[in-house]
Amino acid sequence: MKYELDMKFEDFPLNVPSEKRIVNKLESLISDLEECGSALTANLAIKHWNKYMTQLSNDMNIIYVRYSCDTRNPAYKKAQDRCDELSPIISNYSNKFAKILTKAKYRKDLEKKYGKYYFQMMDASLKSFDEKIIPELIKENKLTSEYDSILGGAEIPFRGEVLNLSQIGKYCQDVDRETRKEASQAMDKWLGEHEERIGAIYDELVHLRDSMAKKLGYKNFVDLGYLRLGRMDYNAKMVKGYREQIAATVVPVAQKLYKKQMKELGIKDPRNYDYNLKFKSGNPKPAGDAKFLVNVAHEMYSDLGPESKEFFEFMMKHDLMDLEARKGKAPGGYCTQFPLYKAPFIFSNFNGTDGDVNVLCHEGGHALQAYLSFPIKIPEYQNPTLESCEIHSMSMEFFAWPYMEKFFGKDADKYRYMHLSDAIEFLPYGITVDEFQHWVYEHPNASHQERCAYWRSLEEKYTPQKKYDDTPTFAHGAYWMRQSHIFGTPFYYIDYTLAQVCAFQFLVEMRKNHEKAWKKYIKLCKFGGQAPFVGLLEHNHLRNPFEDGNVAKVIKPLEKLLKEFDTTKF
Ligand SMILES: [Zn+2]
Repeated sequence: MKYELDMKFEDFPLNVPSEKRIVNKLESLISDLEECGSALTANLAIKHWNKYMTQLSNDMNIIYVRYSCDTRNPAYKKAQDRCDELSPIISNYSNKFAKILTKAKYRKDLEKKYGKYYFQMMDASLKSFDEKIIPELIKENKLTSEYDSILGGAEIPFRGEVLNLSQIGKYCQDVDRETRKEASQAMDKWLGEHEERIGAIYDELVHLRDSMAKKLGYKNFVDLGYLRLGRMDYNAKMVKGYREQIAATVVPVAQKLYKKQMKELGIKDPRNYDYNLKFKSGNPKPAGDAKFLVNVAHEMYSDLGPESKEFFEFMMKHDLMDLEARKGKAPGGYCTQFPLYKAPFIFSNFNGTDGDVNVLCHEGGHALQAYLSFPIKIPEYQNPTLESCEIHSMSMEFFAWPYMEKFFGKDADKYRYMHLSDAIEFLPYGITVDEFQHWVYEHPNASHQERCAYWRSLEEKYTPQKKYDDTPTFAHGAYWMRQSHIFGTPFYYIDYTLAQVCAFQFLVEMRKNHEKAWKKYIKLCKFGGQAPFVGLLEHNHLRNPFEDGNVAKVIKPLEKLLKEFDTTKF
């Protein structure tokens, strides 16, 4: 399909949005729509609206990326602050636009052209928003930013140094047991010192969300939380059934893996921090630096198929990856896109670990999907919901398996074993985070101590290997305070587990018939977000994790696969 683009990322223009200009433009686009009396004229108004919104999100994403690549640049910071202020204003106009369309007498005619799902998305966003909850939304943003800044600004004293959470995290997986223990204790102590404030922030968030839900006519925040995530074809009851499947079929497999791991490490009385160390000889190490890894990724995407080859060469040609850690860069990694240029972008902080390879595969999968979905005419259909998005990225991690000798040399098998066992072990933790949140929003008046006790009871059920004897804050059930999703995006977490169960299916299919599985994957990427999660699975012939028995069917072949690895040589 080859998109024409004659610029590299560094030449993308920085258009700082002006509130006055945006408001004027949006008001005029809305009044144009108001005057429409038929689907034919409305269609034109929608086209104009989409064109402007594409430009706007292109501009705002350029600012976001430039700022995260260089957070110390005052011009980028100012532009980013401007965008943060403008976002709720733009959302408000989007809602006005949706309100007119969903109530229009020509809605049925438009549905024929745009599909039912287009309108269902609008209905859902209208049902989860009303001007009367704007004060709560602003407060919610403030509180989650405060949480982010407490965690982001953590200063943890450790052996004469002062470390942040990600730096101390590295020591928590050290090969030396005493180092792991001390690092975990330092982290536990820091969390204990901030427990009161973090607990209070969460308490306030829970009450705010509960009151928003009640203002909008819901019993509690659960249904509203689902709506905010665009979950249209599954509900809390189905998620509960899915968690029960994970508990019954995955928890025992994970426990076996942990026992094996401890036996191989020779640890008789394991503590929580011991599970962070997978192998006595340490984690697999990439066979070269960033440049080397990008070249291997280029080879891999070229070999996988013509679509992925074109995609990765587009990324390289236009400098659409900022991968290496640098002073002043924002932490973490993400994939975003510039819709006007039909260009994805990958941001990360390479640090010389196996995580770097993961970025090229995982974020690469997100970017490939974005690239292949740009031809979809209706912008709302280009981007799937969050749990669907993770299928593209997590499956790409598995499609990369045959290339691991190139990325890791002799450590290839070690990487594959770690990748698969980590993915399985993640599921019990994922349902812990999910079940906790359902309980919290169904019991909004519970105290902090009760929340911690409930969390601890879930850990005992799903991750019973965790023994917190040396870390008192974790021991009384405060570990959840480290999981940012619980604060920032309620109920967004089970998504990773759902997508993982789907990605496992690609792993199994790929080992049977690589070409067929890859074709199916490319089709899924091109499908974009033209259906909500369950609909997307049906359309693309993937097993639905909510259907009883499906989790077991997916996990069975993986157990066999794990046994094929000779872990004693790692
Ligand atoms: Zn992802």
